[in-house]
Amino acid sequence: MFIRYFAFIIFLFSATAGWSQKPHTHCGAELIQQQFRQKNAHFNEAFFSSTLKARTAIKRSTEVCTVQVVVHILQDPTGPSISNVQVQQEIDRLNLGMNHQNADTNDIRPVFDGITGEPSNIWFTLASTNPEGNPSNGIVRIDTDVEGFGAISDLLAEAAKVTAFGGSDPWDVNRYLNIWVCNTADASGAPIVAGYATPPGGLPNWPPFDPSELIDGVLIQSEFFGSIASQAQKVVLHEVGHYFGLRHIWGDDFDCFGDDGIDDTPSMSDNSAFECPVQNTCVDNILGQNLPDMFENYMDYSFPDCQVSFTNEQASFMRWVAENSRVELCSGLTTSTVLPVKQKLQLFPNPTKGLLQIQSNEFTEYRLFDASGRVCEQGAGLSPQIDLKKYAPGIYFVQCKYQSQIDAQRVVYIP
Ligand SMILES: [Zn+2]
Repeated sequence: MFIRYFAFIIFLFSATAGWSQKPHTHCGAELIQQQFRQKNAHFNEAFFSSTLKARTAIKRSTEVCTVQVVVHILQDPTGPSISNVQVQQEIDRLNLGMNHQNADTNDIRPVFDGITGEPSNIWFTLASTNPEGNPSNGIVRIDTDVEGFGAISDLLAEAAKVTAFGGSDPWDVNRYLNIWVCNTADASGAPIVAGYATPPGGLPNWPPFDPSELIDGVLIQSEFFGSIASQAQKVVLHEVGHYFGLRHIWGDDFDCFGDDGIDDTPSMSDNSAFECPVQNTCVDNILGQNLPDMFENYMDYSFPDCQVSFTNEQASFMRWVAENSRVELCSGLTTSTVLPVKQKLQLFPNPTKGLLQIQSNEFTEYRLFDASGRVCEQGAGLSPQIDLKKYAPGIYFVQCKYQSQIDAQRVVYIP
């Protein structure tokens, strides 16, 4: 199964090389997106047209969703050992964080009071039975000779999820959250990521990809699991956020157009670069406020001690994903919620012979991309116009930001 990842190899090496300065602090979500962008010729179109449709107020169910967890600990001779007590501590920390019951919620700045405090009502428990129905403590321990699963995997550290490669096969991924704890080191000996996770396919705020390319679950670099290092404490929460469909709070873009598809997360021009910077890099309007960058968010890259919360809509969205995309995982539920879709941006005429009108009643910023994803021009105004006559005929994408919304559409220019 790893043969088909061959096309990714060269790109993977170049991408991870760029991370060498902070190999312990990144998660693999951007890398996964970059790989699919490389692989899929239609990815840019899909990316620009699909990113923001998750922005919505989602009806919240208060029924408790209980998720059975199996932790696969791949113990190599040189790696840290993780006790059963430490595994349980990590599950406890996950439960508190997912339900806004962690003590450090007191550290959230008051300006975010209106957008934090709601629980996801998703709770995790170490599995008491294995897939065959036999009693279990939910922990699989494998003594392995593999000191770096990144070195033997064609994609991230996926070999850790395969017994034949020295890893551990998953339990039924539909019924259990599988968490692998291992060393992700590549041939250089440096871990390639702090962790990565698989969001379900088909979510409205992610570019489309085939989830079967990766074995479903969460994978964590050993030093970031349990209570081994204090700064490790938020990686599991961050990755479980991805597993339930959340994206990085700054939208994996490096200006104010980047967005995670969630209504109440403040817009940020970049991540917090492993610090806790008090700043407001982007103007937004969330419940009537222009909120500052939220380094408190688990989905930021901020200093771990600052990461203490999800927002209410992030909690709702994870809950919606649990009930709709991970139905078998969530035991004991009787209801399902509905995800409404917002109105689309109006551009006309489309196709156009040259002049394109953006219909908006609000001050609107726009960016024009060509089919390769390169920015051709940007501007702003009330119902701004774009003149495509100076560009080659073909397919373009117009991304617009108005109030706190961002939307994008495909445009065809035929002179
Ligand atoms: Zn991430």
